[in-house]
Amino acid sequence: MELFRIILNFNWDNYLLDFISLTLWHNFKKIIMAIIITDECINCDACVAECPNNAIYEPDSEWSYSDETSLSGDVTTPDGRDVDADAENEAVSDEFYFIVTDKCTECKGFHDEPQCASVCPVDCCVLDEDHEESEEQLLAKKAWLHGE
Ligand code: SF4
Ligand code: SF4
Repeated sequence: MELFRIILNFNWDNYLLDFISLTLWHNFKKIIMAIIITDECINCDACVAECPNNAIYEPDSEWSYSDETSLSGDVTTPDGRDVDADAENEAVSDEFYFIVTDKCTECKGFHDEPQCASVCPVDCCVLDEDHEESEEQLLAKKAWLHGE
């Protein structure tokens, strides 16, 4: 009887809310993003050598998909765009170092954390909220870049 009384008095509403919150949180954690460099960048160059995908470029530099990757010629991006991997593309910024979103995998498949963010002295490598990608998408991008 005592057990029955405890079950009846248990606050099931709060339990249900906790369960839903935890489930949402675990799903939310699967959504991750590429990294972007903000205008706080001091152009120190520390991040460039750390990037396993050669996704970081100096200000006002042209970039290509084929720079330090396995890509060449006409290729289709993981999200279905046809591009020329060898084409020189316009700089994303002429003032600060920049990251090419299509080449950033948040270091997935290489390191446990974004290497640019870990070496940046002014913490200006931050999550790019305009480019949410799942871990699966980032790993697929890494495989695409490196011909795996
Ligand atoms: Fe490169 Fe990793 Fe930084 Fe993306 S997070 S730009 S892959 S170093
Ligand atoms: Fe800019 Fe930070 Fe890279 Fe230095 S490490 S170039 S401050 S983003």
